[in-house]
Amino acid sequence: MMTHLIDGKQLSDQVLLEVASEVALLKGEHDMVPTLAVVLVGEDPASQVYVRNKVKRATEAGMGSIEHRLDAETSQNTLNELIDQLNNDPEVHGILVQLPLPSHLDEDVVIASIHPAKDVDGFHPLNVGALASGRPSLVPCTPQGCMIMLRQVHPDLSGKNVVVVGRSNIVGKPMAALLLQANCTVTIAHSRTRNIETLCRNADIVVAAVGRAEFINADWIKPGATVIDVGINAIDVDGKRKLVGDVDFESVAQVAGAITPVPGGVGPMTIACLLLNTTRAARYQLA
Ligand code: NDP
Repeated sequence: MMTHLIDGKQLSDQVLLEVASEVALLKGEHDMVPTLAVVLVGEDPASQVYVRNKVKRATEAGMGSIEHRLDAETSQNTLNELIDQLNNDPEVHGILVQLPLPSHLDEDVVIASIHPAKDVDGFHPLNVGALASGRPSLVPCTPQGCMIMLRQVHPDLSGKNVVVVGRSNIVGKPMAALLLQANCTVTIAHSRTRNIETLCRNADIVVAAVGRAEFINADWIKPGATVIDVGINAIDVDGKRKLVGDVDFESVAQVAGAITPVPGGVGPMTIACLLLNTTRAARYQLA
């Protein structure tokens, strides 16, 4: 079977074009430069790469960006004060605190301290509640990007059987909420799920957000099903570092009707949706 490759790079370029034209509108009509503030605590190498990419993309889209790099020993108070300052700064429209934080900092406290209208990650309890109850909100970027990718293949998702593997607050749960809103029948699988392979094999769509390299193979996938691979895992191949997803791409591409690659799939869509959220946050703040 010839699988359809859902190209996240190409699709994210389209989203970024929409973002750039919205930025131009906000500038032209409201003299407003949508601005994203990114806060990085510590020197985690992966987080540094993510932050660099986010800031670069924001600048390319014509947005303002502000980077705050704090050392790993930063206290909860200092971080809270910075977030307060960003909450009250009318020139800042979106605030992103790069996770994970060093272990002495309380992520829940930090997330709850970001103003919900500037919470471009969509992790604040008010935004989480709004999503769960189907009200407009700032939606977490990765599942939002997955939905755009899914709609390329399934413009109408109504009635599809979907298994989301993973139940984290940042991917699995909001993904399930968005699919439910789109009238899918959703099963959330996790580390305690029984017969997970059988569940996946019955699904029209499988979304993998597990954090385990090449965990899902072709035996788990119904012929013709759509597979969205959220995972990003660094593995060692012949002494070289390689990025792979949670799906064994080589085997699954033989049976799936459509599949996202890693890299070049969900990753670029996540950043594009972050910028989309920043323009939405800027609009909220005009109101
Ligand atoms: P978490 O570690 O927070 O969650 C992983 C989930 O997978 C948990 O719900 C866990 O279950 C479940 N799980 C673990 N092992 C198994 C198993 N053997 N069988 C079934 N379920 C299992 O990860 P995240 O949600 O944060 O991220 C998932 C992946 O997505 C990672 O590879 C991450 O790097 C990637 N990611 C990619 C992004 C992108 O932009 N492309 C953005 C965010 C994440 P339980 O709850 O029971 O422990």
